[in-house]
Amino acid sequence: MTVVRVALPVPLRQHFDYLIASDQPCQIGCRVLVPFGNRQLVGIIWQLAPDDGFDASKLKTVLQLLDTTPVLPPLLCQLLSFAAEYYHYPLGEVLISALPALLREGRNLTDYQPKAYRLTTAGLQLNSTALKRSAKQSALWQALQSHQLTESVLLQQHSRATLKQLLDKQLAEELIVPPVPFTPPLKPATGLKLTSNQALAVTAVDQACGRFERLLLEGVTGSGKTEVYLQSIAGLLNQQQQVLVIVPEIGLTPQTLARFQARFDVPVLCWHSALSDSERLHCWLQASTGAAAIIIGTRSALFLPFYRLGLIIIDEEHDQSLKQQDGFRYHARDLAIKRAALQHCPILLGSATPSLESLHNALNKRFIHLPLPDRAAGQALPVFELVDLKQQVLQFGLASQTLAQIKKQLGLGLQVMLFLNRRGFAPALSCQECGWLTECHRCSAFTTYHKQSRQLVCHHCGASKAVPRQCGNCGSTQLKPLGQGTEQLEENLQQLFADVPITRLDRDSTRRKGALHQALDDIHQSGARLIVGTQMLAKGHHFPNVSLVVIVDVDGALYSSDFRAPEQLAQLLTQVAGRAGRGSSGGKVLLQTHYPEHVLLQDIINNGYASFARSALKEREQTRLPPFQHLALFRAEAHQSELCQQWLQQLADCSRQISGLQLLGPIPAPLERRAGKYRWQLQLYSPARPQLHTALDNLLQQLHSWPLSRKVKWQLDVDPTDL
Ligand code: ADP
Ligand code: ZN
Ligand code: ZN
Repeated sequence: MTVVRVALPVPLRQHFDYLIASDQPCQIGCRVLVPFGNRQLVGIIWQLAPDDGFDASKLKTVLQLLDTTPVLPPLLCQLLSFAAEYYHYPLGEVLISALPALLREGRNLTDYQPKAYRLTTAGLQLNSTALKRSAKQSALWQALQSHQLTESVLLQQHSRATLKQLLDKQLAEELIVPPVPFTPPLKPATGLKLTSNQALAVTAVDQACGRFERLLLEGVTGSGKTEVYLQSIAGLLNQQQQVLVIVPEIGLTPQTLARFQARFDVPVLCWHSALSDSERLHCWLQASTGAAAIIIGTRSALFLPFYRLGLIIIDEEHDQSLKQQDGFRYHARDLAIKRAALQHCPILLGSATPSLESLHNALNKRFIHLPLPDRAAGQALPVFELVDLKQQVLQFGLASQTLAQIKKQLGLGLQVMLFLNRRGFAPALSCQECGWLTECHRCSAFTTYHKQSRQLVCHHCGASKAVPRQCGNCGSTQLKPLGQGTEQLEENLQQLFADVPITRLDRDSTRRKGALHQALDDIHQSGARLIVGTQMLAKGHHFPNVSLVVIVDVDGALYSSDFRAPEQLAQLLTQVAGRAGRGSSGGKVLLQTHYPEHVLLQDIINNGYASFARSALKEREQTRLPPFQHLALFRAEAHQSELCQQWLQQLADCSRQISGLQLLGPIPAPLERRAGKYRWQLQLYSPARPQLHTALDNLLQQLHSWPLSRKVKWQLDVDPTDL
């Protein structure tokens, strides 16, 4: 027997030792099934024959070694152990969470590997008349005479039942198809003629290939970033190198996938949450064998075991969905940079509205800066116009000049997009007699009225209930919607523009399978159309017929306590606006507000995002906020507000003993109560990362022994993106 040290998916910051027979071919990164308490867990071998700190007589034995080659190859082990340290999250959970669900459950990998079938010696020697009573078996036997067949080819002509009969009779046998990397494209891909800035960018990526380099493509909306990605990839594919493209939400932009597939004659695969478990494992296998050339996926694609990765691209690198917001809270952009470093390959970050972090790095020359300041096909960027809502009579939340401009564009046969970042019919129902508002009883928030489903839904905890008949306070039956959401805006627009087709794009309207595709297809039809939607509209779509974008209401987002709020709003406004004027006709954006003099709005409309971002960076520098200091956040949740406060106060007291840390809090979270629990937070700032990490290690060690730590639900978020 020998000993292996195993990382297990348990919330403990330690590993566990087990005995295993010495002749078992263990390697670091292989899965094992082990007894743990009264359960069985799948863990990852993390160390072979550790020479310290165990008493072999007390150790339990590994139940099963699940792999003969590591499911987590050395490079991924390095990446994940870095991630566990950086985000201060238990290694076992990090390792296991990087695997597809079927492997986490302990399934046998070989069951999912591609198979081929050939005749056995008995099958080869069989007399040709022996199967004459079964035409199907005979046909399959004939087909296997000359050469073996892969499972997929075989099943095109023959049934699985017939195959099983030959296998049972031991006339045929199964073998695992040895992995073959993809074949480089046979014909050169034809791309667009690049603009000079695009050409500079592609050259820069080409030159960076083969070594670690970070590049930021800061290209305005419609500047042809995707074309840069496509042409940067071409050379790598010829060298049989794989490419990973991380996108925020692939489901929203099937166009992107289609463009990659149309350009290159190689396997392009998708990785996202809508795949079934076996589809995911298939993709994982194709990555690891090198059969997949390009993988386009959401953030967790970062953990795929590539065979030969040559380039990582992160599209919309500013997008908030790149940060995982529960459990293991990692930022896919930051870990992808680490992966590129380990992999010795370049990483290309692209955005029209880069995060201040990446922009800072580009301006500091840590990243190679590749600007694309103009639209690719020569179109002008959309022109902003502020619509002052003060002292205006509004019709359905729209000012008269807004309505006039919408009419004009529709009259020209063009499309108008109306952006309202609130789904549902109305943000609340209100009593006309006493002013009572429908509130979630579990959150400090109102419940949204959904007219079509006749429900009141809390958008924070998901609780829903039927619409009440009476006021919860005075019993009046005079309940009216207060404010406007996309569902209502659509209904109102239908009244105003009876003959114009309307497409709504939000999470409710696209829930049904196929609904999103249908909506996108409708939009791509030419002819007058109104498009209503939430931030889903902001995501990289290319709708050439949209000439006018109306931002119905930004006021709610102008004043927020989160220091990142202005950056996020500027990104959202610029991205939404960027949907306008991508075709031959120019584009215009109407921004409706009660605060036309607001500095942020003025900056965005007069100077654009690039200028806003540079002045926002100066402000962050003056106020010593990230990226000029590093931030970690402790959150605490409990049914009693006092417990959260006490726990965080204890943490704050300890933190004060550590030099170089600056504290903010304990303060209540912006949504103070959610799903029945109170939520508080403590922010820790430090000028140096190593110092911050040492402090966090120190605090984590202490807090585990506090009795209060078991009474609150706490989490640590390093580089948080929502405060
Ligand atoms: P982005 O991703 O930067 O918003 P896209 O890649 O979607 O921009 O490109 C916008 C449009 O410009 C697309 O229709 C694309 O085909 C076109 N385009 C890109 N590059 C060029 C080019 N060099 N010449 C002409 N058209 C281009
Ligand atoms: Zn009332
Ligand atoms: Zn709620």
